[in-house]
Amino acid sequence: MHIKSAEFVMSNSDVAKCPKSRLPEYAFIGRSNVGKSSLINMLTSRKSLAKTSGRPGKTQLINHFLINKNWHLVDLPGYGYARVSKSSKKTFQKFITQYFTVREQLVTAFVLVDIRHEPQPIDLEFMQWLGENGIPFSIIFTKADKLKPKAIENHVDVYKNILLETWEDMPNYFITSSSKDIGKDEVLEYIEGLNEN
Ligand code: GDP
Repeated sequence: MHIKSAEFVMSNSDVAKCPKSRLPEYAFIGRSNVGKSSLINMLTSRKSLAKTSGRPGKTQLINHFLINKNWHLVDLPGYGYARVSKSSKKTFQKFITQYFTVREQLVTAFVLVDIRHEPQPIDLEFMQWLGENGIPFSIIFTKADKLKPKAIENHVDVYKNILLETWEDMPNYFITSSSKDIGKDEVLEYIEGLNEN
């Protein structure tokens, strides 16, 4: 898919106020600092469409972007920021739960995980929750430039083994690096394919 246009639409803290349009949408979510903003900028070939955050955990908003005038890319807040309080964690959970359960336009979620790290409970719990609620998702491994191909394979295998303990299939996954422009075409083609269905 060639990205001809990418425009910021709106930021919301209330799911009910998100765009009313029925355009298909794709949500990007992951732990703070996972490389979500960089990935969104790589996918859209825009330097700063999504703001790479100096202060993780600060942006607790649902951000809609209109791509090629026919689908929405949704930048969701980063989760798992150690320094947020328990009560703001609860608010966050409610907010995200609402988004995923209310937005009928959502085609699929992309859960971002840093390829370098062991699977983290918070990511696994979140994937579990998506699965239990019938919300389709793919995994996007980020920062692949930081590992050698063999290590990438090993790290993906660790995820596979864990996820296959619970689920019959490994979700779709993508290996990406925003600094080396890896995985962009694969993710965009996947979205294009879903948009055509
Ligand atoms: P966000 O908080 O998830 O939106 O993450 P950012 O996109 O702001 O990135 C967090 C940090 O990871 C920044 O210092 C980025 O430069 C770095 N980063 C993001 N993507 C990559 C990548 O593909 N490779 C490498 N090596 N670093 C990355």
